[in-house]
Order: sequence, then C-alpha cells, then structure tokens
Amino acid sequence: MADAPANLFMTIPHPAPTSADMRNAAIADPGFGKVFSDHMVSIDYTDGKGWHNASVGPRVPISLDPAASVLHYAQEIFEGMKAYRQADGSLSLFRPEANAARFNASATRMAMPTLPEDLFVAAVREQVRIDRDWFPTVEGGSLYLRPFMFATEAFLGVRPALEYKFLVIASPAGNYFKSGSPAVSIWISDYSRAAPGGTGAAKTGGNYAASLIPTAEAFSRGHDQVLFLDAVEHKWVEELGGMNLFFVFDDGSMVTPPLTGTILPGITRDSLLQLAREEGLTVREEPYSIDQWRADAASGKLVETMACGTAAVVTAVGHVAGPDGEFTIGSGGPGQLTTRLREKLVGIQRGAIADTHGWVMQV
Ligand code: PMP
Repeated sequence: MADAPANLFMTIPHPAPTSADMRNAAIADPGFGKVFSDHMVSIDYTDGKGWHNASVGPRVPISLDPAASVLHYAQEIFEGMKAYRQADGSLSLFRPEANAARFNASATRMAMPTLPEDLFVAAVREQVRIDRDWFPTVEGGSLYLRPFMFATEAFLGVRPALEYKFLVIASPAGNYFKSGSPAVSIWISDYSRAAPGGTGAAKTGGNYAASLIPTAEAFSRGHDQVLFLDAVEHKWVEELGGMNLFFVFDDGSMVTPPLTGTILPGITRDSLLQLAREEGLTVREEPYSIDQWRADAASGKLVETMACGTAAVVTAVGHVAGPDGEFTIGSGGPGQLTTRLREKLVGIQRGAIADTHGWVMQV
C-alpha cells in the first residue's frame, strides 16, 4: 500500500508528553497490557457523513453520553496486533491487511460500519510512527496495538447505532505468559464460549466478558489458559481463551479445528497453516474431539499440541486438565515442530528470515 497522505490524520499537539525517564522505565519491563503510550489515533463515524475527523494526538480519556449505545447493547469490536523491531532498527507490522479484513468481518457481524482497509492500516502505521520511542527495550519485546471501534450514539432503542468512534492505542509488551513457561497447562471449561449462529468468529468484547469466569477458574486451578469445547455436544475442541490450537501426529500430519463460525479466525493460525504446508506437512482443518485428544496423547500418536496467537506466537501445550482427569502431551515440553514453526514465524516477523509471502510491512 502507498503511504497515507501526510495530511490524512490531523496532528493534535501533546500538551504534556510523558517524560523520557518515565517512558524508559515503562519500556524496560512492560509486562503485557499494563503500560500505554501517550498517543492515540481517532476517527469518527456518523451515518450519512461516513468516516471523518481523523486525528493523531494525546491519549486522553474519552467522554461518552450515558446513553451511548455501546454501554447498553455492546456494539464494540477490536483487533490485536504487534509492531516488531527489525534487525536494522526499523519497525514493521505483520499482515496488517489481515487484521483490517477481520476487523471488518467483526464489524459486519455486529451491525457496525466497516472501515476502508487502507484507512485501518494507515491508522495503525500512524500510531506506530508517533509511538516509536515506546518500543520496549526488553529482549523479545514488541509494541502491541489495539485498534477498536464502539457505538457512541445516545439512543436506547435496540437497533444499530448511527455514530461510532474508531481508536488505536499502543502498549509496549514483554512476555505474554506470567510464568514465561516454555509449555502451557490448560483447563477444560464446562462453560461455552460461542454457539452456532452466535458471535464467536467476531472479535467483540462480549466474547471476552463471557470468558472471564472460565479463565479465572483455570487460573485458580493453577493453569495458564482455558480451553473451550463446542457448545452443542461439549465434545469438540474449539480454541483457548485467546489462542487457536494445532495437533501434531507421529506421521507428520497436523489437525486444527475448522472455521465454522464459533472460533476466531486467527492470523497466526492462518500463517502456520501456510508455513506447515510449505514444509510438506499434511494439515487438515477438521473437528477433533477431546476424547480423541486424550486417547492420542496416551497412545503416543499425538506428539505435540501447539497454541498460537499474536500475543504468545506459538507455544506448546504440555498438560490438559478437566473434571474427568488430566493428561500430558509428549514430554510435557515444547516439541520439535512447535519450536521450528515458532522460530520460523518469529524470524519472519523480525526480519531474520526472508519474507517470501509479503507478510511484513515496514512502518
Ligand atoms: N482466538 C481468540 C479467542 C483470540 O482472542 C485470539 C487473539 N486474537 C486468537 C484466537 C488468535 O488470533 P491471532 O492469531 O490473530 O492473534
């Protein structure tokens, strides 16, 4: 994509930027989702007028009418993506057009206006440019970007709102998993995340609100992530609270649950599908049951399970526990393919491996 015109985003001067000392302390060890840069991109939408008022300026609290429909009927969608530091010091995005397309798919499901994909990408690039000093100094760090949109119209009737706001904020990020463990342990939840015909494939806040109790349950039992099964039979493996899953077998084949509307179409998932197929692996998108998973782990047919997403990239699932007992996959640590695909994806994202797919966009 060509560079966005310089005047696309009106620049609002920052009256009180964060001091270099405070910023440097924040980016030295940021953790995940706790520290925010001091800028945001903002674009407004009004029915009839379309998208307008694009600006980049200080990250400030937003004022909303108490009747704003997002507060009542939850028209809200978001994306999660990262800027990466390349070997030459420049910053890049990974497949931002894929985030733009998923954002619009979420918007359509939630009866919200779509945002032109090049405007979405331009907004994210603008955010990275203005926040380049917020890039973490910690090893393996990245600048996490959160584009989101919500209904601002003051109206209590139940219908799609006529006014929206799109914002991008940025958060320096270190290691996603608290324990930093090389393999994660997951808890099989009795709760359901998404039902057929529902909103499971959309990145909308309500899906995550619904996952909080199940996730808290997983944490309180000492696990890192929650696993959701399908809502109808409670039999088929769907996804984790924030990651998709791949199962690796001893014959070199791989399985991942299909995109039937109840799981999020992960961009990491899609990238791994392509990378694995290029390595000559047979990858099937087909349903996989929890009973089969347990049986295959016990027989040794299943050699690895990978969890993947923007936050944690590719991580081994070592242990699985639920009301019916627990099982371990392989040695309980990361297997060969998990390690290889992780290194490959991270290498492409950070420029150590040639980007033959056109996935990396310089900012
Ligand atoms: N599933 C869910 C529910 C998620 O929230 C995420 C994170 N966006 C993913 C899967 C992984 O998606 P991605 O690879 O695009 O980060």
